[in-house]
Amino acid sequence: MNEKSILASNASKEGAAAPRRGRDVHSEALALIAAGRVRSRSELGEALAMAPSSISLVVQTLVTKGWITESGQGPSTGGRRPRILAVSGESSYVLCADMGGRHAKIGVMGLDGSLQESRSIDFDVTTGPDEGLRVLGAAFDSLMAERPGRRLLGIGVALPGPVDVAAGCVDSPSRMPGWHRYPVGATLAARFGTGVAVENDANAMALGEYSERSPRSGQMIVIKAGTAIGAGFIIDGKVYHGATGAAGDITHVRTPAAGDALCSCGNRGCLETIASGAAVVSLLRARGLDVSTTADVIRLVEDADPDATGLVRDAGRHLGGVVSAIVNFFNPTAVLLNGVLSTLEPFVAAFRSQLYEGCHPLVTKELTIAASSLGEDAGLVGTGRLALQQAFENPHTQMS
Ligand SMILES: [Zn+2]
Repeated sequence: MNEKSILASNASKEGAAAPRRGRDVHSEALALIAAGRVRSRSELGEALAMAPSSISLVVQTLVTKGWITESGQGPSTGGRRPRILAVSGESSYVLCADMGGRHAKIGVMGLDGSLQESRSIDFDVTTGPDEGLRVLGAAFDSLMAERPGRRLLGIGVALPGPVDVAAGCVDSPSRMPGWHRYPVGATLAARFGTGVAVENDANAMALGEYSERSPRSGQMIVIKAGTAIGAGFIIDGKVYHGATGAAGDITHVRTPAAGDALCSCGNRGCLETIASGAAVVSLLRARGLDVSTTADVIRLVEDADPDATGLVRDAGRHLGGVVSAIVNFFNPTAVLLNGVLSTLEPFVAAFRSQLYEGCHPLVTKELTIAASSLGEDAGLVGTGRLALQQAFENPHTQMS
């Protein structure tokens, strides 16, 4: 496809050949580059549906103002290797957090999308939002105190429940007492005087993986197989939220093998009751083994304990069964596994074989099934990217 036909097809897809009136292409370009959605002039031209000559002017302006850099060489797609676009601005940064049930990861991201700091803090989601956000705020305070003279441009937070992105809150979470519709985004925005992006943890993880992955997978599923199960969908390079923000919440899919087991959602027979890390822990305890966390499960599997290995393999098979139905329907280019169970070979092998067994050959022909490349930092990278994107979409953002 030549450039003209790409433009034409984009224009017909977007339903508008001419740029919107009053459109700020510089902010749009910054947001796309910051989010990791475009990395070269041609990708930028495609995303903004603009001709190469116009893109050239936009890039030149942003480079001259010191907002972006254009350097290095990206992977070739046949012709000359493209130069890589990245956001610059060393004195500014965003804060990011990936909140789990019992601990959280917090970090600092530079404007070029690089994670400059990543640490774990104790965080108990069951203490409720007032205490939880106090703990998070104090942790952010110390990261800021370590960066005197530098400017905070925004905050991104991932939470372990269904998220209403526009309202910046969780909606009907099953393990977060007191958090339902609590204004997480507004509370942090008032405390820190900056924009705050709130996202579901699995979606943030998927966005992080997407922005760092090369070559790019526009259609991707990222599965979080940890104490709980979650999934994030990337469709045409964007997180897919669904109608009410619950897309990807595969943990409550009814699974025949789960029988009548009671789930945290109040239903019976959910995938969560047989394929999550928490389920493996309780199934092992029921067999009389001394385990209380997924770390204990990891240790037992590494010691080739037959009960633990068998249950972990079953968990991978059950998860693979549910995911194979989605893969058949969605036909993605990649399925990535993250979370503590994905570090266990018996789990990954069972998951993988279930996908090959349960999917049409055309669906798996070019499908990548792999472990996450970012590991525990995937959610932080995703929330950092979201915070950057939100900051650059704000016309009042000052970079330094
Ligand atoms: Zn359930």
